[in-house]
Amino acid sequence: MTIAIRLNRTRLAETLAGVPKAHELFIGGRFVPAGSGRTIERTSPAHGVTVSTYAEAGAADLDAALEAARAAFDRGPWPSMTGAERSRLLHKVADLVEARLEVFATLDTLESGKPISQARGEMAGAVDIWRYAAGLARDLHGESYSTLGASKLGLVVREPIGVVSIITPWNFPFLIVSQKLPFALAAGCTAVVKPSEMTSGSTLLLGSVLAEAGLPEGVVNILSGYGAEVGAPMTTDPRVDMVSFTGSTRVGKAAMAAAAATLKKMSMELGGKNPQIVFPDADLDAALDAAVFGAYFNAGECCNAGSRLLVHRDIAGQFEAAFVERSKKVVIGDPLDPQTLVGALISPQHLALVEGHVAHARTDGADIALGGSRLDSEAGQFMAATVVAGALPSMAIARDEVFGPVATIMRFSSADEAVAIANGVDYGLSASVWSRDFDTAVGTAKRIRAGTVWTNTFMDGAAELPFGGFRQSGVGRELGRHAAADYTEEKTLHLHCGPRTAWWLPR
Ligand code: NAD
Repeated sequence: MTIAIRLNRTRLAETLAGVPKAHELFIGGRFVPAGSGRTIERTSPAHGVTVSTYAEAGAADLDAALEAARAAFDRGPWPSMTGAERSRLLHKVADLVEARLEVFATLDTLESGKPISQARGEMAGAVDIWRYAAGLARDLHGESYSTLGASKLGLVVREPIGVVSIITPWNFPFLIVSQKLPFALAAGCTAVVKPSEMTSGSTLLLGSVLAEAGLPEGVVNILSGYGAEVGAPMTTDPRVDMVSFTGSTRVGKAAMAAAAATLKKMSMELGGKNPQIVFPDADLDAALDAAVFGAYFNAGECCNAGSRLLVHRDIAGQFEAAFVERSKKVVIGDPLDPQTLVGALISPQHLALVEGHVAHARTDGADIALGGSRLDSEAGQFMAATVVAGALPSMAIARDEVFGPVATIMRFSSADEAVAIANGVDYGLSASVWSRDFDTAVGTAKRIRAGTVWTNTFMDGAAELPFGGFRQSGVGRELGRHAAADYTEEKTLHLHCGPRTAWWLPR
């Protein structure tokens, strides 16, 4: 068998020399080893060598982090600092991350297997989000009511909710923590952050940036560790006021159930099975490019992956053939090569799961028009771009999140049918509609039950635009102008002036 994926070992060695490899926990403003002394080794999904070692937090480390976050909130000064002061600090963090962008991007690439050019783009996007949050820190405000009568004034103020547990997944390590932490900080909250045990490097490195920017100690504490030992207690501990979680729907449900015992506020960004709907009058070249991008971006390990391609019967044959041809040309390879479009899958176990989804689709009667299994490589785990054609909406491959480079194609005859298929799964994160006709594009977009619907584009984003899911794709929204307000409690101040009408005057 020919080796499909070749890796440049010299470039790997040079790259490794430029980034930190050992990462400690960040608690109370200092980097410390785990109390147990244990560590987690991260193997590069592409190169098969250890690229990072994280301290493995346990119960005692979590206790110290929660104490630090609680003290930083309860004693201040962070929650009572002015919006302008918090804003200045968030801007400084953005500047420092930008100055070290290459190191942050390289860590995410080495640990997750994503292409370096993509990781650089994610870092630039993350920096932009920190700046957007810095702006919101100065614009967080409540409401007032002077319509309650001559002797009354109603004020609705926003106060930081308290200590926030931030739990993130492995697929966009630095981008996702940046969709949460700067907004929590803008609101005046303190936080305990747990990145995925597979991609903790860039989040731990953020600790040094926060310290350098002058964040008071204890305001942010960062723990690498496993879900059961650290993540789960972060959802149940009474010292935590809110949980902001991004991850799988399965773990999200468990986290929500666990948090119910102490009724924490929950923000949940979960899985997706996102349809890309192509009508015959679409710009088919643009739709094809977006469909391929949507299916294979980040090796399909993306909550927003356009994993369901719904194509109108009139163009289905031609579009599917073109999709398969384009898929064959997607450059899969060494993530450190700037030309690579698709890198490695996160772990051998995950690769086996993705292959299992495709095998199941074959058993269900779908046609594997391209790929379907792993690529031969010198090291690591890579999967072929895979096209499942002839799928029915009832099949598991058309309903379950696969989280790999797998596009499932289905056909439809009318807008009604497309909408029914699009809305016929448990998820509702995002979707796209392709048509040059305004009524078709906008009319269909309005009927889709998803948090984001693109027309004639796919997976565009902006810090100004809220992001989140309907139904089992999540609860709440991130980004947008309410993102900092989400980390607050509303408090009513009911003010009275002048004589008060008595309830009861004894005679
Ligand atoms: P995951 O649910 O396995 O893990 C997410 C995080 O939760 C990790 O840090 C993990 O250690 C932690 N965790 C595990 N068990 C826990 C528990 N019992 N209590 C608390 N925390 C626990 O998800 P993953 O495999 O890391 O990421 C992939 C999933 O994330 C996909 O389903 C994807 O769709 C979803 N995702 C969603 C979005 C979004 O914005 N909607 C973005 C990215 C990823």
